[in-house]
Amino acid sequence: MADPNCIFCKIAQGEIPAEKIYDDGTVFAVRDINPKAPTHVLVIPYEHVEALADADAALVAAAAHCLEAAPGIARALGVTGAGYRLVANQGPDSGQEVPHFHLHILAGRRLGPMG
Ligand code: 5GP
Ligand code: ZN
Repeated sequence: MADPNCIFCKIAQGEIPAEKIYDDGTVFAVRDINPKAPTHVLVIPYEHVEALADADAALVAAAAHCLEAAPGIARALGVTGAGYRLVANQGPDSGQEVPHFHLHILAGRRLGPMG
């Protein structure tokens, strides 16, 4: 169920224009508007999946599909050989800004330690 206040739901529904560099009908990918690495792509389920902890099995499956799609997106971006980082922020301590599940694909430089 789309959340009318959610920026990723608005992108999903085409209310906010964004170039979808990948789209399989369950998840889509866009370049991050404020990239933290030379390649920074967001993989986003069409469904408004908020906190994973509160999601039912169907919504968890929609979110999990981001992980299934990520290797093909990374390959298309040409970053498979050098490697990439997948990040999914959850909640305030993670710094999550948008409360609609998404996977970050970060690549194109040595990313350094997590933390
Ligand atoms: P979070 O901190 O929630 O894990 O990540 C949210 C990401 O969404 C941030 O990296 C931010 O730059 C990105 N973002 C926020 N608004 C937009 C938008 O309208 N378009 C795109 N492409 N990215 C956005
Ligand atoms: Zn949403």
